[in-house]
Amino acid sequence: MNYDKKTIRDIDVSGKRILLRCDFNVPHDKKTGEIHDATRIVASLPTIRYLLDRGASVIITSHMGRPHGVWKPENSLYSARDHLEKLLGIPVPMTTDVLGPDTKAKCAALRPGQVMLIENLRFCLEEEKNDPNFAKELASLADIFVFDAFGCAHRAHASTAGVADYLPAVAGFLVEKELAFLGKALDEPKRPLVAILGGAKVSDKIGVIKSLLQKADTIIIGGGMSYTFQVARGGKIGTSLLDEGNIEFARNMIAKAEELGVKLLLPMDTQVTKEFSGDAEPTLVPSTAIPDDCMGMDIGPKTIQLFTDAIRGAGTVIWNGPMGVFEFPAFSKGSNAIAQALAGLDGAVTIVGGGDSVSAVEKTGYADKISHISTGGGAALEFLEGLVLPGIACLADR
Ligand code: AMP
Repeated sequence: MNYDKKTIRDIDVSGKRILLRCDFNVPHDKKTGEIHDATRIVASLPTIRYLLDRGASVIITSHMGRPHGVWKPENSLYSARDHLEKLLGIPVPMTTDVLGPDTKAKCAALRPGQVMLIENLRFCLEEEKNDPNFAKELASLADIFVFDAFGCAHRAHASTAGVADYLPAVAGFLVEKELAFLGKALDEPKRPLVAILGGAKVSDKIGVIKSLLQKADTIIIGGGMSYTFQVARGGKIGTSLLDEGNIEFARNMIAKAEELGVKLLLPMDTQVTKEFSGDAEPTLVPSTAIPDDCMGMDIGPKTIQLFTDAIRGAGTVIWNGPMGVFEFPAFSKGSNAIAQALAGLDGAVTIVGGGDSVSAVEKTGYADKISHISTGGGAALEFLEGLVLPGIACLADR
């Protein structure tokens, strides 16, 4: 996939009507609407401000949750709109329908330098089906399509890809930054390239492991997915997470790494407990000899040393997935240590890709010391797998 895409900097936006796809799918309280984490809204501000400052009229679209075509108050974008209004300090009218008379009226009233928001597109089934008529109607509201919802780039929906069949399409700043960091890390990384993979399931990361084996100098595997690799190399893991269907895959990957000369590091010691609980007293055991009645909850101090030593000399680090059950403070030490190691690197490019590893970094307070924190969980993973992302592929090449 070509990552060198045109952005809003490459075109004249003044006086134009812009259909801007943002990702306002923020975690919020289903009853009160209170937003728990507004990162995605804040992240969209540079693009919105740039467009408004140049006299564009900006029609924002987004989804919120998965209402599957049913109008539910908890999936409304109202609280996101309220938050955006506060951040921008100007009114942001929001439609009460999707592409109905209210959308038409509010779009018609929109003037240069003004912004509005269309209600959750997923209230219409056509959005996720990428219905061509729906996409065409959406596109008819504007002159230019700007895609800035990297977290949705792996979805071929009407608002993420379909509209690009009818409008010139370019990237916003958020997407531009994602492409610059992730694309460079894959294509011309500053070496050595160290990839750190964790989280619960091997199955989610099969494609990423395969792809990174071809590119990375070192692959570190921790967290719940590491136990399947321990079994593959003959270890005993007690009641720890096991992805039985992928033991063979893990065995092949260990062999492949050796063949390619890629360093594949697995945990040496593990903090284990008898129950899955944040209060359970942990015992430290070798990672390949976990007692039958115990489960792994976090990496141990020797592993932290092993992993942080490997990180120390890195030119580029990509991290996806926590090293343990970091939601329990007692088992967040491994993930915290990785975050700290990344934050302490001088002159290296550090990328934290999506989802739980982002929460882990934010909890430690090291987020501002990371070169790039990806806004896309699934999209970042698919990008690292080398898959074509419909939301990116549809944008004009530079
Ligand atoms: P993922 O979505 O695949 O990145 O997985 C993230 C989840 O993996 C988090 O909720 C962690 O609590 C969980 N996780 C990490 N390590 C372990 C472990 N050793 N045992 C169980 N769950 C884990």
